Parts: sequence; C-alpha cells; structure tokens
Amino acid sequence: MRKLLILGASGSIGSQTLDVIITYNLYELVAVTVGNRFNAVDEIIAKFPTVKFVTLKDPKVAKEYQIKYPNVTFYSGNDGLLEIIENSGADVVVNALTGFAGLLPSIKTLEKNKILCLANKESLVVGGEFINKLLKDGHGKLYPIDSEHVAIAKCLYGKNIDDVEKILITASGGPFFDLDSSKFSEIKVEDALKHPNWSMGKKITIDSSTMMNKAFEITEAYYLFGVPKEKIFPLVDRKSHVHSLVKFKNGEVRLQVGPSDMRIPIYYALTFGKCDNGEKFDDVEINTYDKYSFKEMDYEKFPLINYGKFIIDKKGNMGAIINAANEECVYAFLNFNINYVDIKNIIDKIVNVYPYIKDPSLEEIIKTDLEVRNLVNEMIKNK
Ligand code: NAD
Ligand code: MG
Repeated sequence: MRKLLILGASGSIGSQTLDVIITYNLYELVAVTVGNRFNAVDEIIAKFPTVKFVTLKDPKVAKEYQIKYPNVTFYSGNDGLLEIIENSGADVVVNALTGFAGLLPSIKTLEKNKILCLANKESLVVGGEFINKLLKDGHGKLYPIDSEHVAIAKCLYGKNIDDVEKILITASGGPFFDLDSSKFSEIKVEDALKHPNWSMGKKITIDSSTMMNKAFEITEAYYLFGVPKEKIFPLVDRKSHVHSLVKFKNGEVRLQVGPSDMRIPIYYALTFGKCDNGEKFDDVEINTYDKYSFKEMDYEKFPLINYGKFIIDKKGNMGAIINAANEECVYAFLNFNINYVDIKNIIDKIVNVYPYIKDPSLEEIIKTDLEVRNLVNEMIKNK
C-alpha cells in the first residue's frame, strides 16, 4: 500500500482526506502536520496507529508531544514541514495547508520526486513557474484537489489541450453576489463567513466572498492546464452544481455536475484520476440539475477577480505580492482590524508601491512575501 503524508491534517481539506482514505481503504497514513489545533494529533494517532511522523507548528507543544508519544518522531515549525517530507517515507503528499506556507512544501515534494495532491492553490499563484519547471524536468507529479480543476480535468478526458476553445470556471458568486456594492462597507465578518454552498476554512471562505478565490483559480488553471489566459473565464452558477465547463473548438461543450462535496475531488486526486468511487450520489438525479442558470461575473462589483489574469500577465513576484497582501488583509478583517472594503483598497495600494521583479529567484519570492506582509501591517497600523 502506498504511504501518505497529509500537510494540514486538522483543516477542512485535511480532515476530509482522512475520511476518504478510511472510507475507501486507500493508503497507509504515515505522517501528518497540524497547525494550531494541535489536539487533533491525539485523535489522529488513535485512529491511525501507522502514523510515525508528526509536525506541529509550535516547538514547545512538539516537545511535549514527543514525551507523550516516544514512538512517533515530532518536528516543528516551517522547517518541520520540509523535514517530514524528507524523512517520513511517504510516496504521496496531500498539501492542504493554507496560504504561502504551502509553497516550499509543494516544491520539496516535487524535488523529492513524490506525487503532490494539491489543495493549496496559493503554491501555484506565488510559485507556478517554479512548480511547472520541476514538473517539466520530470520531478514528481501533480494532481489538483480544487473542485473546479478536477472538473476541468474530467472534461478533458480523451481530448487534447489544443482542442480547447475556452475553459469556464464556475463560481458560486458567494454571499454578496446580489448585494448592492454601496452596502459593501457594512459587511461584517459573520456575513462574509456565510458561504452559500460550501463549508471550508475561514481564509478561503473570505476569498470566495471577494472573488479573490476565483482570481487565484484562474491563475491555477493557467498553470495546471497550460492554456492561454484569453481562453479562461469565470462563470457564475449560484447553486454550485456545475463545477466547471470546457468548450471545444468543434463546438462540443462538456460540463461536470455533482454534489458540492470535496471528498469527490479529493478521491480523484488520491487515486490519480479515478472518477468513480463506486458510491451513488444522493442527489444525482438529472432533474435536480436540469435548470442551470448561469450568470455573468460582475467585474465591477468584484474587481479583485481581475488579479487572476494580471498575475498570469506579470508573472515574476506579482503572485507573491498579491497573495501576501491578500492573506494579511483577510486575517486583519477576520480579527476586526480593517473593514471589508479595505481588503481591496489595501491590495490595490500594495500592488502600486511594492517593487515588481520580473524574473525572481525563490529567495526573492520569499523576501517579497515577508516584506509585503510587513508593509500591509504598517499600513493598517497607520490608518
Ligand atoms: P483550513 O484553514 O481548514 O486548514 C488549513 C490547515 O493548514 C490547518 O490544518 C492549519 O493548521 C494548517 N496550517 C496553516 N498554516 C500553517 C503553517 N504555517 N504551518 C503549519 N500548518 C499550517 O483550510 P482549508 O479550507 O482546508 O484549505 C486548505 C487549502 O485548500 C487552501 O489553500 C484552500 O484554498 C484550498 N481549498 C480548500 C477547499 C475547501 O473546501 N476547504 C476547496 C478547494 C481548495
Ligand atoms: Mg475551488
């Protein structure tokens, strides 16, 4: 049986991955990493006695756990995220970390010629060029977990990428699609955390409400499928029944439809592209889905969507600039330090002032991330 490492095992994608490997008896789980919810480690070790390596965010907590579980090797911090990839003997790595923290682990996984099942889309937003270079040079393999990209991959079966006329990435529209933009300044944290169709981690839920998530998914599609940005568009399906569409040059349109359940794309990634897990969906009756009502994306109401193609255009450190500004703004909003509309205003300002580097080294990407975070926090403090 193949050996699995899950990065971010206590999170939304991480815990659903645990669910999938138990339900379908897919892997020997040998290693996990857990961030702030460190209590999850006890549960995971009790359920999966095969786990022999754990990384915890906090070194002090990791020391305590090492005493509690002498037969498990504990690592900590950001270095620990890389050490566990190096030493746990896993063949396959699920990257379910949030944000920039996922980049170096993604790169390390591929450098070690392992299979990367990637939920952490930020890895591609900030480091798509580095990741694609590794894949092109024959290092490792990558399977996406993001539901839209799994849907696109399913639509592409038996087709060549050159046959594609356009890729339509569906968006739910989030909680504010029908809200007048004059009301955006009144949006509260709890309103933004109410996603209409999906239950996810807090950061991606906010990104879904601002459309930054969809912007990042456009960039993600560009790096995963190698199609020019002119062929990638967002399309709104308020019910999230259609997970994406592909239109081909011969006129054929394929769309992938199914329940909003991340265990389906997670299964697809973990099995390297198997579509059917043998279960019947509860609500797959065709009459549930025969009333598609797509809407156009509202670019004026959700201008952050434009950053998806902007990042593809600019490349360099632009993904790192926008991602770091967005991450810091989202956490500041969640901590009640800025208003909802400040998220966009601060990101726009940062993009205008932070130096753009066309052909950065990985070190320069890391430096960009750090410096932009500091800059955002200064801006917030001086507001
Ligand atoms: P989450 O917040 O529920 O979980 C994130 C996990 O990463 C947690 O276990 C957390 O402890 C860990 N983590 C974060 N930063 C860390 C750090 N610096 N060091 C160590 N551990 C750290 O998030 P999620 O919703 O599961 O999303 C994870 C990723 O998957 C994101 O990139 C998101 O965009 C993507 N994604 C999520 C969904 C979904 O349905 N939740 C769907 C598609 C894509
Ligand atoms: Mg998605």
